[in-house]
Amino acid sequence: MAGIYTSRADLKPLLIEGMQPGGQLTITNEVENFPGYPEGSTGPVIMDDIRQQAIHVGTEMRTGMVTKVDFSSRPFHCVVDGTDEIVADTVIVATGANARWLGLPSEQKFRGFGVSTCATCDGNFFRKKNTVVIGGGDTALEDALYLAKLCTKVYIVHRRDQFRGTMALQNQVLQTPNIEVVWNTVPVDIVGEQQGFIKKVTGLQVRNVKTGQEKTLAVDGVFEAIGVNPVSDLFKGQLDMNEQGYIITRPGTPFTNVEGVFAAGDVQDPNYRQAIIAAASGAIAGIEASRFLMEN
Ligand code: NAP
Repeated sequence: MAGIYTSRADLKPLLIEGMQPGGQLTITNEVENFPGYPEGSTGPVIMDDIRQQAIHVGTEMRTGMVTKVDFSSRPFHCVVDGTDEIVADTVIVATGANARWLGLPSEQKFRGFGVSTCATCDGNFFRKKNTVVIGGGDTALEDALYLAKLCTKVYIVHRRDQFRGTMALQNQVLQTPNIEVVWNTVPVDIVGEQQGFIKKVTGLQVRNVKTGQEKTLAVDGVFEAIGVNPVSDLFKGQLDMNEQGYIITRPGTPFTNVEGVFAAGDVQDPNYRQAIIAAASGAIAGIEASRFLMEN
């Protein structure tokens, strides 16, 4: 949305798309709460529509990763893919967030071999198999519903006795016969086998936090859905951030501690983290960037 607003203000914005254009929404399957889609839609469709809309109004898209920024003086300098330097009068940071990993002892070993943070990307490998989703938020509930359509059985392992996710999803999950919720339970480790280079997950060892009892759920796939981390490492030391790495903006505005650098969307929002709110936040950043350039 920042691209759309700055394009319409005739600012000729360049949008650097990063490694996952469209971000977290591109791995979200069903979206019912974004306006303009009466029957709901999917994250990839919505993000592609917004991308096309941005191009239509004049946003220049560039595939690449920003590898370095210098916000010490204006104009600002950004390096793309380690080589190309871009000079900009104003910068809007909208780098979003990435899925968080649990850090279980064997997690790294089985990543990509049955351990994933993206059900919509990897669920297809587990058709007619058993899987487990860890977490109790919207992502976990959505992932479980998605996997339930493919898998024989889906466990949800949640550390409390109540979900955090929205009621609509909770109701769907609790009414889905092949989803079993394992309450008050935390994962202990991934169980698996390795023969040469071939690795496969065979289970998830879990512990009930009330009784201390441990058991292993027999599953072929483990999907972690325990929240997100803001993508802000690149800006450390230049933009103020809180202890979790969220960029601090003046409340209700996209203003960072650097005049002319704005932040929008999930990278500065530890609270709501919703597509519509990120979109509106991008629009606000676009408006403020235009005002800033007019005043300077
Ligand atoms: P979240 O809301 O932060 O939920 C994370 C879940 O993981 C929580 O249930 C949490 O347990 C659990 N958890 C966190 N750390 C854990 C650990 N170390 N061990 C075990 N469990 C752990 O994250 P999310 O579900 O990814 O959602 C992020 C944001 O995106 C939310 O604002 C959500 O509403 C939004 N979202 C929206 C949609 C949609 O509207 N269609 C879809 C997906 C996500 P506790 O509950 O005990 O803290």
